[in-house]
Amino acid sequence: MTTSGATAVMFRPRTVGEAVEMLATAHDAGRAVDLLGGGTDLVPALRSGERRPGAVVALRRVLELRVRGAGADSLTVGAGVTYTDLAGWSLSPGLALAARVVGSAQIRNLGTVGGALGSARPTGDLLTFLTAADAEILVASPRGPGRMTLPAFLADGLAPDALVTAVRLPRPAGPQSYLKIGGRQAAYQALVSCAVLVDRMRHRLACAIGGVGRLPIRMTVAERFAHDAVDWSAGAASSSAARRFGELVSEAVSRVGPELAAGPRVSADYRRHAAGVLAARAFTRCLDAAGAPVDPRVERDVRP
Ligand SMILES: Cc1cc2nc3c(=O)[nH]c(=O)nc-3n(C[C@H](O)[C@H](O)[C@H](O)COP(=O)(O)OP(=O)(O)OC[C@H]3O[C@@H](n4cnc5c(N)ncnc54)[C@H](O)[C@@H]3O)c2cc1C
Repeated sequence: MTTSGATAVMFRPRTVGEAVEMLATAHDAGRAVDLLGGGTDLVPALRSGERRPGAVVALRRVLELRVRGAGADSLTVGAGVTYTDLAGWSLSPGLALAARVVGSAQIRNLGTVGGALGSARPTGDLLTFLTAADAEILVASPRGPGRMTLPAFLADGLAPDALVTAVRLPRPAGPQSYLKIGGRQAAYQALVSCAVLVDRMRHRLACAIGGVGRLPIRMTVAERFAHDAVDWSAGAASSSAARRFGELVSEAVSRVGPELAAGPRVSADYRRHAAGVLAARAFTRCLDAAGAPVDPRVERDVRP
């Protein structure tokens, strides 16, 4: 494999064990390694010379990474599962919603869960959903299998000889919603996104906002408000509760420093405003809070 004049050794493992061995071999030989999932981020970076690895481990033939499973309390999604695979997955409606609004059909067919985590884009749709879902990251390395919380994974990254094998998240225990505002209606990443997950058993609501900081952010004050404001026996809330929830999200976003560059359509003020509107709407969808605020400035862009 040639990357901007330099030659990278290409490995094509068929099992996770082989992939780990190949990573270790390349690492021991002092070669920087990139993992190739669907290549939607990596291939352009190789072509432009932004990435110049000494070795590439292509994961496409590793069938065990493409498995999805359901246990009594949790769902497990292999790192090789694509957005298209997730888009129709009825066991996780929120994950399916997030996968459906990713890029174009071509990106959804190729892009994988492992690649979304490896790239960890501030506007990554999966990342916003997984942040709200308290996901756990399963990894493999020469030291054996391991697991990390998503915040630890995002803060510390992976060891250079490790790969993500799967993501584990709790089984849904109530309605879920995922909304994003994109630059255009197709093939564009989120400007601002919002995931809301309701847990009717534990009387909890989780909310994460993407596109306002370097990584998606949990809206803990708004979450605590929801705990008190929702009528958990009916699984419903008032429209004023939805409005207040949106205001609390806007307030939290306004306290985030200027971590992301502003653009003509994405001033800090727009991000703050859009986050509040998305959050109020996602809350309404999950909790049937009829009459929550609708703003035509962002309404036209909201997907799905
Ligand atoms: C035109 C376009 C539109 C897009 N639109 C969206 C969008 O709307 N929403 C969105 O969220 N994203 C979007 N993306 C980004 C992209 O599709 C995702 O980030 C995708 O999930 C990357 O997955 P991949 O399998 O293609 O990763 P790759 O490109 O193969 O790899 C990306 C990175 O992850 C690492 N990696 C791959 N697999 C693993 C693994 N198993 N363990 C650890 N690290 C790994 C690689 O080493 C590399 O650093 C878009 C991209 C393009 C080009």
